[in-house]
Amino acid sequence: MDPEQRQLKLHFIPYPAPGHLIPLCSIATLFAARGHHVTVITTPSYAQILRKSSPSLHLHVVDFPAREAGLPDGVEIMSASTDLESASKFHRATMFLRVPIVRFLEQHPPDCVVADFVFSWVHDLANTLRIPRLAFNGFSLFAVTAMESVKSHPEIHSDTGPFVIPDFPQHITVSSRPPKTATAFLERLLGTEIKSDGLIVNNFVELEGEEYIQHYEKTSGHKAWHLGPACLVTKSGDDRGEKSVMSENECLSWMNSKQAKSVVYVCFGSMCRFPDKQLYEIACGLEQAAHGFVWVVPEKKGKENESEEEKEKWLPKGFEERNAEGGLIIRGWAPQLLILGHAALGCFLTHCGWNSTLEAVTAGVPMVTWPVAGDQFYNERLVTEVRGIGVEVGATEWKDVGYGEREKVVSRDSIEKAVRRLMDGGDEAEEIRRRAQEFRHKAMQALQEGGSSHNNLSAVIAHLTRFRDPR
Ligand code: UDP
Repeated sequence: MDPEQRQLKLHFIPYPAPGHLIPLCSIATLFAARGHHVTVITTPSYAQILRKSSPSLHLHVVDFPAREAGLPDGVEIMSASTDLESASKFHRATMFLRVPIVRFLEQHPPDCVVADFVFSWVHDLANTLRIPRLAFNGFSLFAVTAMESVKSHPEIHSDTGPFVIPDFPQHITVSSRPPKTATAFLERLLGTEIKSDGLIVNNFVELEGEEYIQHYEKTSGHKAWHLGPACLVTKSGDDRGEKSVMSENECLSWMNSKQAKSVVYVCFGSMCRFPDKQLYEIACGLEQAAHGFVWVVPEKKGKENESEEEKEKWLPKGFEERNAEGGLIIRGWAPQLLILGHAALGCFLTHCGWNSTLEAVTAGVPMVTWPVAGDQFYNERLVTEVRGIGVEVGATEWKDVGYGEREKVVSRDSIEKAVRRLMDGGDEAEEIRRRAQEFRHKAMQALQEGGSSHNNLSAVIAHLTRFRDPR
């Protein structure tokens, strides 16, 4: 660091859900790597993880008020929620974090606070302390821009079926409409986010597209700083906040026994729980597609000792025996980064959570897209139509959250067809693979000296320094 430039003191407040926590802490380490004094405010078990994975970070530990919200002691991360009820309790618990965090910031005011947009109360706190606040939401700016456009067009909710994103730089048709209940919550948060001094985005300019960044900044008057991809910062899976049920070595030796580009990886992130009938169709679709696979199926709460009868509700009889050689089912948390980075991987059937999407991009892995909730239907458009690095499975049911029953089932035939489009070879698949590799290189370049994210980090640091030390 330039000796003339005094260290900036930054406090990061991540939201304790894997999709928010992991990328924001990686971004925090980017600031620390430039010599700044970075403190992450987190709960005891994630602090333990960060101590090992990111020793350059300072930590301020606050207890997670699980019991106060009616959750069992020891719960500290949102992925422990398996249904809407436990997710709501978890969210309530996170709101109790406000008191100890405010106290800490009042006693130790930083030069800037970087907070997840779910903690919208940080807005008032930063104003009181007269410090800049940068916001983070874990989405691509493409998705945020789409959400902002939909916000000004409430008529979108009064119909069903696909819709064209209004006032958007490109004609983009989304396969389903966001439920009003979900957008109302998000829009409230985005409304406060936009009052921040800028948005930190876990993406890189080349994947996002200049036209979307310019459109966002022009229409909102809000600055966006692209500093990612965060998953290239820590590189290992040590910072996940969940422990893999299968050891990395075991998973690696299974993958090592497979041919290059022969395996389909199926995982729907940390929050999505499909009903049995959908899992059954996935199993049949994978068998019909006839390629190797690693399929992550979250363990069901209270069903750790599942009977044969219960299992046959979601897994066809004899499935495991028939696929003992070529298929692997992981019941619980999987070492996703390791799997995506392995040469045996052919494609990723994903819910298009933004982290999973970026992890696939940085691994150069083409995607079969299956959005479920939140920002995922927009991410699907960026991956397929805009960047051409994936194909759709044909999901058209947009849920409030990833849990609960659904009206529609994605059929085994649609799953087979989409997987085969990428895995059976041919010109289309080759072209998609080529583009996926191209974006992998661009992702790596972005973080290197002179790359777009590297330059943006310098710019945001200069911006914050100017704010602190006005001439
Ligand atoms: N993840 C993982 N193993 C799993 C499931 C998820 O490592 O079995 C990680 C994944 O690599 C990603 C994060 O959890 O970093 C999920 O974030 P994403 O934005 O993709 O989806 P969300 O969970 O927020 O829906």
